[in-house]
Amino acid sequence: MNKDPERREEELLLKENVVERGVVPVWVVCVCACLTAGTLLAAGAVDRRLPEPLPTDAPAQLFSAERAYEHLINLTSIGPRVAGSYENEVLAVRQLVSAARSVAAAASQHNLVDYDVFTASGAFSLTFLDGMTNIYRDVQSVVIRIRGAGEASGPGRGTRPGPPAALLINCHFDTVPDSPGASDDGAGCAVALETARALAASRRPLRHRVLVLLNGAEENILQASHAFVSGHAWARGARAFINIEACGAGGREVLFQAGPHDPWIVEVYAGAVPHPFASSLAQELFESGLIPADTDFRIFRDYGNMSGERRHASPLPAPRSPSVDIQPNGHYSIIIYSLV
Ligand SMILES: [Zn+2]
Repeated sequence: MNKDPERREEELLLKENVVERGVVPVWVVCVCACLTAGTLLAAGAVDRRLPEPLPTDAPAQLFSAERAYEHLINLTSIGPRVAGSYENEVLAVRQLVSAARSVAAAASQHNLVDYDVFTASGAFSLTFLDGMTNIYRDVQSVVIRIRGAGEASGPGRGTRPGPPAALLINCHFDTVPDSPGASDDGAGCAVALETARALAASRRPLRHRVLVLLNGAEENILQASHAFVSGHAWARGARAFINIEACGAGGREVLFQAGPHDPWIVEVYAGAVPHPFASSLAQELFESGLIPADTDFRIFRDYGNMSGERRHASPLPAPRSPSVDIQPNGHYSIIIYSLV
């Protein structure tokens, strides 16, 4: 069948690249560039609206980023703290025990603080990567417990029998071999310790227990959190958790994972914190397996039978001054605890 001659000629011109097509007008490019720049400026402005870091002489019941930063400096000055090393099992633990004593010393008359250094051995299976059985021996952690001075012993409140309900705050102080672990996860432990101190110093008895797990073996992989939830007596009361982790260095805190049940966790987060920042896209990507990594979130979910959230605290390592990035984390932890 013969084609229309005009159309055939047009096709030939197109084929020979004689006719121009699809040129984007300059004004469209300019508008897009302006919109992009405006979005970036707006994002920068939102970032600057984060809470100001509080100084070391801030009131005791408030979270101070500068106080937290001191923990970070102390921990990173040890250098890499690989699980099983002298730096991990002796130097870091010595420092964390000292920090735990400081938390106890700062407690108000309304709250009680005790801590425990524990080692444990065990085994568990992981579906991570191709699947594996993870066997560990004598991994070491420090856990701090804070509770109201008038807390009744025996069955906890609510409908569930057992020990009083507790919120678990988790971080890990071990590192990979070639890093001082400022972001991953020294900052998380700095936030957890300052949060513990501020909660203990509260002018009222805590309504629920708080457990702060400074775990010594996460990087290779996830042993210490398993040791805690599967074997430590204090873990039996844990009902929900906040896992403070790292994702690179710098940037604002982000709620990265939540669940698997109890949507109230996200509702509380969205309703209570002054600057909520979360991404469901990140959770989907992570759970799809595209990102070859995992955290203690999986252990608390699968072996602790808890729901919780995982946040990425990403302060820059020294020498950047404290803590536009640290302050929001502790701030949020306290707010969430107050509502749990
Ligand atoms: Zn980590």
